Amino acid sequence: MKLVVRVKLLPAPGQAAALEATLHACNEAATWAASVAFETDARRPLELRKHTYAEIRVRWQLGAQAAQHAIKKTCDAYTTLKANLRNGRYGRAGSRRHTRASGKPVVFRPQSAQPYDDRMLSWQHQARTVSIWTSAGRLKNVAFTGQDGQLEVLAAHRKGESDLVCQGGKWFLIATCEIAEAALNAHPARFLGVDLGIVNIAATSDGERHCGRRINRKRESDRKLRSKLQKKNTKSAKRRAKKYAGKEARRNKDINHKISKRSVAEAERTGRGIALETLTGIRERARLRKPQRTTLHSWPFAQLGSFIAYKAKRAEVPVVYVDPAYTSQECSKCHHIERANRPAQAYFACRVCGFVEHADHNASHNIAHRGWMVWVCGAQSTAPELTLIV
Ligand SMILES: [Zn+2]
Repeated sequence: MKLVVRVKLLPAPGQAAALEATLHACNEAATWAASVAFETDARRPLELRKHTYAEIRVRWQLGAQAAQHAIKKTCDAYTTLKANLRNGRYGRAGSRRHTRASGKPVVFRPQSAQPYDDRMLSWQHQARTVSIWTSAGRLKNVAFTGQDGQLEVLAAHRKGESDLVCQGGKWFLIATCEIAEAALNAHPARFLGVDLGIVNIAATSDGERHCGRRINRKRESDRKLRSKLQKKNTKSAKRRAKKYAGKEARRNKDINHKISKRSVAEAERTGRGIALETLTGIRERARLRKPQRTTLHSWPFAQLGSFIAYKAKRAEVPVVYVDPAYTSQECSKCHHIERANRPAQAYFACRVCGFVEHADHNASHNIAHRGWMVWVCGAQSTAPELTLIV
């Protein structure tokens, strides 16, 4: 399993200036290489290197590794562009967007990420410093920081290249970690069903509910503030809107981390697997009044689902995905399905056997039951391939 860990660098002012100069030089060199690639149609690293390597080394004073990475980055950008053009992301061939995207060379922003390999970057995990190549020589003892759990993963499993990026004036290294796939618990004692929703962000079949009322209210007020700022259309208003968007994303991520951690820990402790609904279902199935619709479409369900999936994998807890059809209308006791079983948002009352329960818990019991059925039938779980920023 691949995980991506982001650590924040804490460079001294002089070090930050060197990093900035390096990133700018690498991206300028890559932009120039991209124009050469465009003119000569040399889009493979080996070919493009012949045309550009020597000049990049001299003109931008880049080391051998940095020059090679700038060239490879350029080639990767063209490969991505080609794939996007083919997949119709820029419209049909011949359309204005398509022509505009394919008719000019790729350009890198001065702050675009630059890959670093082990020869250009070394980690001292104990001291929490890195030694990093720059165009002004190698910087030693550049301090970094991050969350404890993530730093442990980094120290134990980092492998391959890392990206140097600058976001909002702050410096980060994004490192890839390869974690060996743990053997999953092959004999789970039943399943913990997790129902993802809006009113309750997550409800488990153990009766735990993560209420969304306060979060949703805050999200709604943030959204109003953002649209107000957007209407203003001044530079400072735009800056503030961006700041709020970042804040909201961080808050959501934090909540999703907490919910997923609790659910997985509970499943692990009790030797169970976890059952989730296939995520596409949540959006398609919900029929909502208008004010709730924005809430639904902007709530990061996919993120919560993927957090649960990767934490489960690390804890050796099997995850299965179940068909979400009628989980909210089915009675978890007698399995009678009827829309009238759920007369109100929060209330479930079976018309046949009289079973009464909170609607989300009833749904999570159904999900747990379906998860068990999927498991005993030996059906393949459709867990997506994981690459995540933790
Ligand atoms: Zn019933």
